[in-house]
Parts: sequence; C-alpha cells; structure tokens
Amino acid sequence: MDSIVLLGSTGSIGVNTLAIAKRYNFKVEALVAGRSIDLLNQQIAEFNPKYVAIANLADRDRVNHPQVFCGDEGILELLEHTESPTVVNALVGYAGMAPTLKAIELGRKVALANKESLVVAGEFIDMNRIVPIDSEHFGLWYLMNQRPFSKLYITASGGAFRDWKIADMQHATFAEALNHPNWSMGNKITIDSATMTNKLFELLEAKWLFGTTDIDAFIERKSIIHALVEFVDGSTTAHFAGVDMKLPIAFAVREQVEESILPAVDLLGMGSVAFEPITTERYPIWEIKEHILQNPQLGVVINAANEEAIHQFEQGQCDFFGMSKIVLDTYRKFDTVHAKSIAEIIEIDKEVRAYANRR
Ligand code: NDP
Repeated sequence: MDSIVLLGSTGSIGVNTLAIAKRYNFKVEALVAGRSIDLLNQQIAEFNPKYVAIANLADRDRVNHPQVFCGDEGILELLEHTESPTVVNALVGYAGMAPTLKAIELGRKVALANKESLVVAGEFIDMNRIVPIDSEHFGLWYLMNQRPFSKLYITASGGAFRDWKIADMQHATFAEALNHPNWSMGNKITIDSATMTNKLFELLEAKWLFGTTDIDAFIERKSIIHALVEFVDGSTTAHFAGVDMKLPIAFAVREQVEESILPAVDLLGMGSVAFEPITTERYPIWEIKEHILQNPQLGVVINAANEEAIHQFEQGQCDFFGMSKIVLDTYRKFDTVHAKSIAEIIEIDKEVRAYANRR
C-alpha cells in the first residue's frame, strides 16, 4: 500500500489531501497540524497515523495519540522517524521550508504545496525531488509534454478587490480581503491573492521548477484556465479545469491518474473567457515582477517582508496598501543580498523581519 506523511493536515490543502488518500487507499503514516486539535483528533481516529506533530507543547495533552512531537523541531524529528517515500508539505509560510529541506535530505519525494519553500530557498532545493501542488504549475506541467516552449503563462483571479474602486481598497479590512471570488483557501494565500503577491510567488515557483524566466501572468476572472504554454512552433495551449485542488493533489501523490477526479469543464455553460493585464495601480507589488524574476535569490526578502506585512494588516497596524508599501520598501533596502547557504537564508530572513517591523 502506498504511504504518505502529511504536513499541514488540518488546512485547506491538507483536508483535500486526506480525501485523495482515502479515495486511493493510501496509508497515512504521520499527520502534522498546528492549532486545530479537534480536527486533528478526528483525522487521527480515521487514518490511524503512527506519528503526530503539533505546533505547541501546551496542546499536547489534548491530542489523542501516544506519539506526539511538538514545535518546529518536532516536525523535523517526526520526519526522521517516518519511512514513507512521499511527504506532502501543506504547511503555510516560512515554517514549511525546513521540513521541505529535511524531507529531501532524507531522500523523500516532496509533493509541495508550500510554495514559500521554493520562493525562499529555490536555489538550494533539488527540483528532481519536488512535485508541485499548485493548480497553475500542475497545468503547465500537464501542457508541456516535453515539447520546446517559448513562453509560459499562469492566470490570476484578481483576488477579493478586483472590482473595488481603488480608493475604497485603502480602507479594506482583513475580513474583506479574505473574501476570495473563486477559491476557498487558507487565510494567508487568500490575502496574497488580494495583493497579487501569490502570483509573484508562483512566477518564482515556475522559474525554479521549469528553469525559465520567460513567464508572465494575466487575470482570468473565472479561474477556469489555470495555465497556458506558448510553444516555439507558434501554437499556444491552455489548461482548463474546475476550481478544485484535488486534481493537482492526486497527480502529485499518484503520478498517474486515469479515473475521473473532477467533472469536466462545461464549455458551453462557462460563457466567454478573457485575459486582462495585472496593473500596478491595483497591485503595487507587480512593479518588481521583472526584477525579482531576474534576481530570484531575493525571494527570501519578499517572503519575510510579506509575512510581517500581513501580520501588521491583521493587527490593524497598517492598511491594505500599507502591506505593499512595507514589502516594496524592504525589498529596496535588501536588494543586493544573495545568500550562499541555508544558514545565510535564515539570517537574512531574521534581518528582513526586524527591518519590516521597525517603528
Ligand atoms: P491553511 O492555512 O489552510 O493550512 C495550513 C496548515 O499548516 C494547517 O494545517 C495549519 O495547522 C498548519 N500549520 C501552520 N503553522 C504550523 C506550525 N507552526 N506547525 C505545524 N503546523 C502548522 O493553508 P492552505 O492549505 O491554504 O495552504 C497551505 C500551503 O499551500 C500554502 O503554502 C499555500 O500557499 C499553498 N497552496 C494552497 C492552495 C489552496 O487552494 N489552499 C493552492 C495552492 C497552494 P492549523 O490549521 O491546525 O493551525
């Protein structure tokens, strides 16, 4: 029986991964969660994992399992105990990087939803061990088929404020930014969709995965086309699929899928599809798109600044556009850094966070 370790089991991707594990009768060797202990206990009862890890030692007594690891170190310890060939990393944010590196060090395949791992440390990650769980990258991979391409495109929904007046966006609240038009996802990626930071991250992700900077993004409001590949022969193909992460997850853990995972797209029912440019007026972060694609080592800077900016927005310490201001200001301050090792990445991450939080 195939076996997986699942990091981030109580999140949006984690829950979908367990649905796929159940469907294909995968053994779930270990579950890692943060604070959602009640849901974790339900998952333990259903999937009977050998090992469990949670974020906080204080919650350990609430977990119905004899073998519970705790904290960031606990996740790495858990990985060392496991044997499954595939680790699904569905943790959110910078906390996901060290487990990705550890899983690779242990010789595992990483089915990677945690895009921050690649954004922060892509230069130090062996792409042969990574299978991405992201609808756009799955779409690109699905289309490419080893033919020579000239350009890659991914699409963006435009996020919660795509139809708002720009003046109103200034006063938007955290709760309003969580109101994604098409996808139901965790809080961080939903905020990153509203600012377009998520798409910037995905361009970097594509750069590392596919080894090209000939990549761009457009808004496609229906989120029905996820990716397009322009081939050197002059043809362009598009990947259409429903708004459901089970398809990329099934491919990432199974490699081959011959059954129906999603209903096919209703071509007549979907109406017209259009592509729109991403403007810096609505999405100020887009200003650095070309620069960061040419300098992908700066992913560590933008990720750390962004995580701190989101925190400040959530706490009411800055407004919606204040997040982009923090990120762009920090990016300019650190635009010459280039880590030569993971140890240096960890140092830069700390410095950037301190700068982004200075008063
Ligand atoms: P969620 O916020 O829904 O889930 C995050 C998971 O990580 C939860 O299980 C959470 O636990 C756990 N977690 C967070 N911090 C810690 C920690 N310190 N220790 C242990 N566990 C922790 O996020 P998503 O599922 O939406 O996203 C996960 C990743 O996948 C992100 O990198 C995102 O960008 C990427 N992704 C998501 C997509 C989606 O459709 N959601 C699409 C493509 C990529 P708990 O909830 O118990 O606190």
